[in-house]
Amino acid sequence: MSMEQPYAYSRREIVEPDWTRFPGWAGVTAAEWDSAQWQRAHCVKNVKQLRDLVGDLLEDRFYADLERDQAERATMSMLVPPQMMNTVVPGSHDAGTPTPAAFTEAFYADPVRRYMLPVFSDRRPDWPSHPYSTRDSLHEHEMWVAEGLTHRYPTKVLAELLTTCPQYCGHCTRMDLVGNSTPVIDKLRFELKPADRYDAMLAYLEQHPEVRDVVVSGGDVANLPWKHLEAFVERLLSLENIRDIRLATKALMGLPQHWLQDDVRAGMERLSTTASSRGVHLAIHTHVNAAQSVTPTVTRAVRAMLDAGVRDVRNQGVLMRGVNAEVPLMLDLCFALLDGAGIIPYYFYMCDMIPFSEHWRISVREAQRLQHGIMGYLPGFATPRIVCDVPYVGKRWVHQIESYDETLGISYWTKNYRTGIELSDTQALERRYEYYDPIYTLPPGGQEWWTEHGGSMVDIHDAATSAAASSRAAAAADVSAYDSLQTTGRS
Ligand code: SF4
Repeated sequence: MSMEQPYAYSRREIVEPDWTRFPGWAGVTAAEWDSAQWQRAHCVKNVKQLRDLVGDLLEDRFYADLERDQAERATMSMLVPPQMMNTVVPGSHDAGTPTPAAFTEAFYADPVRRYMLPVFSDRRPDWPSHPYSTRDSLHEHEMWVAEGLTHRYPTKVLAELLTTCPQYCGHCTRMDLVGNSTPVIDKLRFELKPADRYDAMLAYLEQHPEVRDVVVSGGDVANLPWKHLEAFVERLLSLENIRDIRLATKALMGLPQHWLQDDVRAGMERLSTTASSRGVHLAIHTHVNAAQSVTPTVTRAVRAMLDAGVRDVRNQGVLMRGVNAEVPLMLDLCFALLDGAGIIPYYFYMCDMIPFSEHWRISVREAQRLQHGIMGYLPGFATPRIVCDVPYVGKRWVHQIESYDETLGISYWTKNYRTGIELSDTQALERRYEYYDPIYTLPPGGQEWWTEHGGSMVDIHDAATSAAASSRAAAAADVSAYDSLQTTGRS
């Protein structure tokens, strides 16, 4: 008797959902849809615009849920380009126009909706934030060697050129800096003018020949006027020590029309030609979290970049419960990336410990099981590593834990290099660094311990986290209702 495999591969058809199914886009033409300007001008930025687009297809309870989240929980303001919005409930009208009740249920359950349009009822009522969650959970600002230039690893740096994106993800790790302020988070702002900041970054890189690899990021480089991005990358290419350049853009998926513009394609070809002539690897790193986000327009944009001479397009997804943190969903996504668009699945990051992210986060043990579950199906070069970005350490594969207290949900990690702020710290390589599982995933004894001790650990300087602590006590009674909501639907 032959047994079925735990995951059954089948080639997935890549489709562009019909955007005219949304009442607000019923008359939008293909030419408009393909225009980057039209896409940028028609992003969904608030509840009213969502209502104008979707109308009565969504029941009022959804709009109220979203409004409350915007007022009390959201760390990112709303910004969803039409291209992304169109991948929410992509098959909603396959069997004709759905009832509002059916559409609303499907909308609530949709993985792209869950992270781009988070609602209040998504969040944990008991522990919306972990007591150790912080605004800059990776401590990148502490490691700035020039404004926006993080030097955490020995040979590589992160250059944050700007603080905006064409789309804002609810779980954004850089919520401290990226996007507009929200009612619960006042964003940090760069102080220097962009030109001065870029000069300072490049001066640092010139003086530090040990740095060979630059992630050019933000925000999203698709929001930088092309001539500024090209000028910055050209200057990087003139530095003998820089051998790898990676451009970070979620817009390759969220607003692929940007990367299909003639001037952008021609500019990328110029950069790729220079990079190639100097033996430098120029790659694009994108951020796709759900298989349905890979559409023919995304595929065209990736091909355009590869045709322009970019060495590789790689994906760094974020692992989130309700979005992709299950073996079949991850493998569906990886195959859609690889077969459908020629994107290499590279990393999945565990969702970081920012305020109000607990409902998305999973435990290290769950992440290890996922890594185990996806091994062996994809080619080795395209099997993503699941990594935990441990504060003050950096990326570690989830199996690299040194020890693990699963009752309290505390994993301990070590490292083999000093970050930029530990160059004279003799203990940096001896120390154990901690990472925390979501409390609601712990056994009863661990949850009780955190209930008793967690409140005193809240950083009182962090308004968002403090708000989470006070709401936790008030909302404890809502937990069982929340659990049933997540498993049985919301109607
Ligand atoms: S695209 Fe990246 S930087 Fe921008 S909001 Fe999303 S996660 Fe944050």
